[in-house]
Amino acid sequence: MLGSKNLGSMNRDLFVVGNWKMYKTAREAAAYLEELLPMVEGARPKIMLAVPYTSISSAAKAAKGTEVWIGAQNMSDAKEGAFTGEIAALMLKEAGASFVLLGHSERRHTFGETNELIHRKVIRALQDDLLPILCIGETASLREAGHAEQVLREQLKKGLEGVPEESQFFVAYEPVWAIGTGKTATPKMAQDAHAFCRDCLEEIFGKKKAAQVPLLYGGSVKSDNVAELVKQKDIDGVLVGGASLEPTHFAAIVNHCKKEKS
Ligand code: PEP
Repeated sequence: MLGSKNLGSMNRDLFVVGNWKMYKTAREAAAYLEELLPMVEGARPKIMLAVPYTSISSAAKAAKGTEVWIGAQNMSDAKEGAFTGEIAALMLKEAGASFVLLGHSERRHTFGETNELIHRKVIRALQDDLLPILCIGETASLREAGHAEQVLREQLKKGLEGVPEESQFFVAYEPVWAIGTGKTATPKMAQDAHAFCRDCLEEIFGKKKAAQVPLLYGGSVKSDNVAELVKQKDIDGVLVGGASLEPTHFAAIVNHCKKEKS
């Protein structure tokens, strides 16, 4: 197994997760890490990078011996089989992935992934020992129509149905209207949504587990807004898309991400 790390017990802490989307070849991934690592040495947050499938091995190799965790952005719900073009959790693990983003808004809205499919992927990731980060979020029109909470509750309940309480998973709240648009939720809006998600987790798993699940905020996070976001009581870190692509921008986010709670 190439550089795959066991994330062990990942209760609430402070996390900065980068999502490279469909950017960076294997060679570019290695060069990125070579540049990033000295800039984030000794940084407080745990750093995780969700990279393209073909860059997992080289990123994991470049991150070996560091506290940077490499993961994937999607996977199949099947263990293996005649599914041309799909990729299995076990393949990702062997390549060096420790975690996987599931239900990212681009998967839901561009590729038509449903809550049911995402739920099966969550279960598969847990069974095959990859930490799932379940991404949820409402569109602008659903928020304007007053349905944001209903959407979040449904995505959480369906996505996490039957998940054993002792399982390790993260939830990322990413309002669709804030992803890649430059529009960030205000810290208060983000905190309100996170508090609501934690209440939903309490309905599903009970108080103790709900208080332990790391909840990340995603949507146009930059070095100048990260500190205010992670100061909020229920925000345990951030999921960063566009601003994770440049090592200097991503390092600035990591280094501005401080845990002082308001
Ligand atoms: C994302 O892709 O998960 C994301 C939050 O993107 P961005 O930071 O570019 O809004």
